Amino acid sequence: MRAALFLFLFAFVVFGISSKTFASETTREFTVGDVTVWAIADSLGERDMSVFIGLDPEVQKQYAPDGKSPSAIMAFLVKTKGETILIDAGMNGLFPNGLSEVAVAEGLRGAEDVTKILITHMHGDHIVGLARDGKRAFPNALVLASKQERDFWLDEKSVELFPNRKAGFDSARQIMGIYGSDAKTFEYGDVVVKGEDFELKAIDARGHTPGHTVFMLSSGGERLLFWADLSHAASLQFPRPDINATYDMNPDEAAKTRLHFMELAAAEKLTIAGAHLPFPGVGTVEKAPVGYIYKSR
Ligand SMILES: [Zn+2]
Repeated sequence: MRAALFLFLFAFVVFGISSKTFASETTREFTVGDVTVWAIADSLGERDMSVFIGLDPEVQKQYAPDGKSPSAIMAFLVKTKGETILIDAGMNGLFPNGLSEVAVAEGLRGAEDVTKILITHMHGDHIVGLARDGKRAFPNALVLASKQERDFWLDEKSVELFPNRKAGFDSARQIMGIYGSDAKTFEYGDVVVKGEDFELKAIDARGHTPGHTVFMLSSGGERLLFWADLSHAASLQFPRPDINATYDMNPDEAAKTRLHFMELAAAEKLTIAGAHLPFPGVGTVEKAPVGYIYKSR
């Protein structure tokens, strides 16, 4: 009950969510080569500019004149010939029965069809949806996170560095605990999942958290980069990748990493899929006179 209240307050504080801001569309289908990707909104809302560190009022006026930037909590489902893979699990935000309800709506039998869940990092808005009523929400899935991320969140000493995040550490430990030996780790650079029609590779994106990971999906000559939390407000941080949110646990490293991936995405004309890009969370990045610009699909 306390956890539910905490999550509600978290969603409210982070997004300032009110019922009138919900859009009716919450899922969208894309193809990447031979596989299908579902973008699933776990929450829709707007990012309040108060979460950005040292934001100059003039800069805010330029990129978010009303003090808000469209955002979301997105998760992504990758459907291949042999696997059904979730990229992050949301926080049971929009759907009374969590993302498994969406899975049913999109023609899967249900949460039991999900074979693997790749976790970009262990903040609550990415892992709370792994559990329902203290049990596994995805009974047959392996849960995979980077070794750095798991070691950090499960080490009891880490909370001393971030004492105001104690609830997050407790929650990560509990959720990983219920997956037991089905919660596994990978190293940066590993091809984490591979099938005859696709592969998913883990790439070092440290900064937002100590083990933050982005994933490159390759299939049939096409690529999609799961962008995770490299940005929290597209209208502000693409032109100004130097600006961090209070959620960025190592702000200097987060800004360097953000800039690196914006350069890469623009140079290689990558399609990106981000956890907090506005719905459907999928788009491209272009170089702009100042910084970059995000173009939503
Ligand atoms: Zn997040």
